[in-house]
Amino acid sequence: MRELSKMVKNIAIIGNGCAAVECIKALRECGCNDTIHLFSDHSYPVYNPMLTTYYVAGKIDFSKLFPFGTNDELARTFNVRFHTRSPVMTLDTTEKVIVTADGLAVSYDRCLIASGASPVRPPIEGIHSGRVYTMRTVEDAIGLKTALEQKPTRVLVVGASMVGIKLVELFRAAGIDVCLADLATHLFPAAAHPDCAAVLAERLRENGVDLRFGTSLTRLEESGAGLLAYFAGDTMPERVDLAVICIGVRANTAFVDRNCIDTAAGVLVNERMETNVHGVYAAGDVAQGRNLLTGQPQIVGLWSNARYQGRTAGRNMAGEHDVFPGNIPHNITHFMNMDFIGIGDVKNYDKMRKYWDGNHFIQLFWQEGLITGANLVDSYTSSGVIRQALIKGLQQSCVHNQGTMPLVQDLLIRKIIMEVEQA
Ligand SMILES: Cc1cc2nc3c(=O)[nH]c(=O)nc-3n(C[C@H](O)[C@H](O)[C@H](O)COP(=O)(O)OP(=O)(O)OC[C@H]3O[C@@H](n4cnc5c(N)ncnc54)[C@H](O)[C@@H]3O)c2cc1C
Repeated sequence: MRELSKMVKNIAIIGNGCAAVECIKALRECGCNDTIHLFSDHSYPVYNPMLTTYYVAGKIDFSKLFPFGTNDELARTFNVRFHTRSPVMTLDTTEKVIVTADGLAVSYDRCLIASGASPVRPPIEGIHSGRVYTMRTVEDAIGLKTALEQKPTRVLVVGASMVGIKLVELFRAAGIDVCLADLATHLFPAAAHPDCAAVLAERLRENGVDLRFGTSLTRLEESGAGLLAYFAGDTMPERVDLAVICIGVRANTAFVDRNCIDTAAGVLVNERMETNVHGVYAAGDVAQGRNLLTGQPQIVGLWSNARYQGRTAGRNMAGEHDVFPGNIPHNITHFMNMDFIGIGDVKNYDKMRKYWDGNHFIQLFWQEGLITGANLVDSYTSSGVIRQALIKGLQQSCVHNQGTMPLVQDLLIRKIIMEVEQA
């Protein structure tokens, strides 16, 4: 085992997504001069997973996947030592040392876990076929783009949420027939109420998408140049050229010793983004901060959330005191010329009202007089206001909350509530 830098003050950052970059920026902005080691399990520059479908669709060039520039540029600007193709295998919080797959050991004083998440593949027969894809990484994007050059005529997308829907959009734009399937009974099962999902489903059907809900994929079988996809209870399989599995992601925590660092679905952090182990922080899709609505730890897998958390971690690692109190789930998906927005909790409510004029859909959910969730279709401009209302715990009657929000927002939320109440 090689050893490096045991005597100098080191900061180790595991993973190279946007959470990592924001942490590095914050460290340097706060005047921290310690040596920063950044560990990445691939050799690409920091990429934006959100843009992968745009690259596959041909809407952006390959270079646009990398919003922070090259690794060399980042290394020069922020004085960072990059360790690419160096997946971290062990984070030893007792010895304060990180060990990579190629045997490099780096001691650290403070460490950020920013390893993101990876797509889940269900443990079913045929799932590892070369005709089955996922969508998160640069490799995923290159793989699917190459597959599209073979001109598939029908594809299966499993998982009807943010990623699955973006894939449906790009396949339909390329003239490819699509079957969209989900074990859940409706689209956006976590973010949409069935009423809102029905509006979206209608639009998808109008765009020629076959929907298959409430049934699980049980087996995939290669057949000729394509795939047969079998669903529970159905004797007739879907016959497709390829399948993309988008049923969710799992936090990348394999290197974390769960006996030392508190974890649940992800790495548990406090408001300062610190774990239960002093000096070890986590941010981004791997970190479980607080859901402001429920007060419970929850991974909020959003780009802006990862950036805020990374920045907060960096400032605290630099010796400042900064907090990021938490977030609420906020899904904004633009597809097929429509916007779907799901905010907060749309499953648990004691009052619900909706407004639907055939073009704009707004559905609000209350618990004990507080707005706690919203679904919007093609009502993008209302989204920020509603989100603020949720976050500030605005009461159903804004009259009692004069002064809790800027005046313009206060008036806007009153107008939205009035429209929905009167619908
Ligand atoms: C198709 C798609 C669409 C999306 N759309 C939206 C959207 O519309 N809005 C939105 O807010 N968010 C969206 N997201 C989510 C958003 O991209 C993520 O929330 C964000 O990228 C998380 O950043 P991160 O830095 O935590 O993790 P990541 O970007 O996943 O970066 C983590 C990095 O760590 C590396 N790594 C993992 N394990 C190790 C290890 N052991 N050692 C070293 N390196 C390791 C990984 O390879 C990866 O490069 C979308 C995601 C996808 C895939």
